[in-house]
Amino acid sequence: ENERLRLPPWLKTTIPMGKNFAKIKTQLRELKLATVCEEARCPNIGECWGGGEHGTQTATIMLMGDTCTRGCRFCSVKTARKPPPLDPAEPVNTAKAIASWGLDYIVLTSVDRDDLPDGGSNHIAETVREIKARNSNIFVECLVPDFRGDLTCVETIANSGLDVYAHNIETVEKLTPFVRDRRAHYRQTLSVLQQAKQFNPKLVTKSSIMLGLGETDAEIEQTMLDLREAGVECLTLGQYMQPTNRHLKVIEYVTPEKFKHWEQRGNELGFLYTASGPLVRSSYKAGEFFITSILK
Ligand code: SF4
Ligand code: SF4
Repeated sequence: ENERLRLPPWLKTTIPMGKNFAKIKTQLRELKLATVCEEARCPNIGECWGGGEHGTQTATIMLMGDTCTRGCRFCSVKTARKPPPLDPAEPVNTAKAIASWGLDYIVLTSVDRDDLPDGGSNHIAETVREIKARNSNIFVECLVPDFRGDLTCVETIANSGLDVYAHNIETVEKLTPFVRDRRAHYRQTLSVLQQAKQFNPKLVTKSSIMLGLGETDAEIEQTMLDLREAGVECLTLGQYMQPTNRHLKVIEYVTPEKFKHWEQRGNELGFLYTASGPLVRSSYKAGEFFITSILK
């Protein structure tokens, strides 16, 4: 049946715009930089772009095109077996735009490019190096694919000069085959996160879980334990939202109180920070959390 769950009041939000928002938006037009924040119409844009209490501004950029070689059942990015080739000028152009933007913290994310021999890892690493060469004070987080577990790719990213290595586990072990692309595996995700930290112990590792796909509390708890076991240091938890009718249905709208509970559990389990809330996305106020929880 096509019946959808009714949207609870805490998800009926208007997008609050912070004071820096208009300024950044004008700058972006000039820089011709496309952000995930705008394109996904992320409800956190006011908080992320406006900077939090410490004025730390975060934004997310998508690299390597808009077409993914995978088809996860929660994601609305378009899919093709052979997406267009990479733009070799992208690392330099992106870095120039970011440098003139004057942000504090940038999240580089990408589609999965299983069609490329290195999964695009060298392209991502080059972008990090170009950004850091222009502004060594900016913090860079890479939210990367699993590279099919290829450790050469993991090492390339881990040693690129980034500050935070993020890879999302997305859901609990039992639901993984139904939620993520069939090439993604729960244990593989844990293993690449662990390996990244081993290649470069100075980087911070991070992962994210979506709630509301039918997982049990015990399974969420186990996933958090598994991430800690793999040495993962930062965690975000947010509500899964169905992007279109063709995507997985929301089984449950998890209450803000329950998200608070997971935040407390995360803190007890020793994550450096746990960002947990219905609207939290994996890059939610990442800069603000980094400054207050990791650099403190
Ligand atoms: Fe979407 Fe990432 Fe899955 Fe590709 S790999 S379909 S971009 S979630
Ligand atoms: Fe952008 Fe991520 Fe913040 Fe949303 S949560 S506004 S996508 S940085």
